[in-house]
Amino acid sequence: MAPRSTPGPDGGRNGGESIDGSRAPWYVPAWLDVPGLPTFEVIDTRSAQGRLDPRSKTVTVADLVLFHGHACDGLLRGAWAMRALADVALGGAPFDRSDLLVVSKNSPCLGDVAAYLTGGRARFGTHRLDASLGVGFQIRVRSSGVTWEVREDPGFFPDLIGAWEAALLGDLDEDDKRELLAHHESVQWDWVRDALLPSAPGDHYRVERLDHLELPPALLEARRTDTVNRAVEPPVEVVSPYDPDLDAPGSGPPTRGRWAARYEEGPG
Ligand SMILES: [Zn+2]
Repeated sequence: MAPRSTPGPDGGRNGGESIDGSRAPWYVPAWLDVPGLPTFEVIDTRSAQGRLDPRSKTVTVADLVLFHGHACDGLLRGAWAMRALADVALGGAPFDRSDLLVVSKNSPCLGDVAAYLTGGRARFGTHRLDASLGVGFQIRVRSSGVTWEVREDPGFFPDLIGAWEAALLGDLDEDDKRELLAHHESVQWDWVRDALLPSAPGDHYRVERLDHLELPPALLEARRTDTVNRAVEPPVEVVSPYDPDLDAPGSGPPTRGRWAARYEEGPG
């Protein structure tokens, strides 16, 4: 999928020139700043009480890195998994971040991909956790109940790296760890460059529709207020001077008068 590029003169340590000449921020390694990385279209409501805005926004791997804090193999495996899921489950449609519930492992990296792309949030009960999922996700379209799952092929990610990921969280000698962490990072990135980047998301991430999913319990339950009005229709009469409703059926001059008067009365 994404062509390999060689590290720049800085060895890829500080970003650098990508093959299309643009310069990535330092937190995106030059060898990762290549065309063909997955991107994601997302839609949200227009405001805190607003309805759904049909205009999509594009989320890149660089955006995911910025949100998560670092580029890592887990973040990229999550991005590949989500791209595979979106290709099958959503077709050409964007992630509607006002209408999705997501399940992920409670991994720092996978959990951030899940929350950022789907809009699922633990504090609203729309991001649930299941350690048995491994590198994979389940998403449920809340309005329809349709549920999908994606899982990484067993064996795609080397067991040896996984074993070191666990070991390096443990009680190793600090001087050993100092060197091992650096080598471990190199081996992780070698795998990303040799195995993940050349593959298409659908090559190693399997998607299926689920007839039934027993959801893990919510950590918190709360009403998410900024999606309550998501399905309200576009206005017929009132055009906002700040951000006109481009898909509103009304095209005549604004007729705010009676609605302004109604508003002045207060909601009581
Ligand atoms: Zn990470």
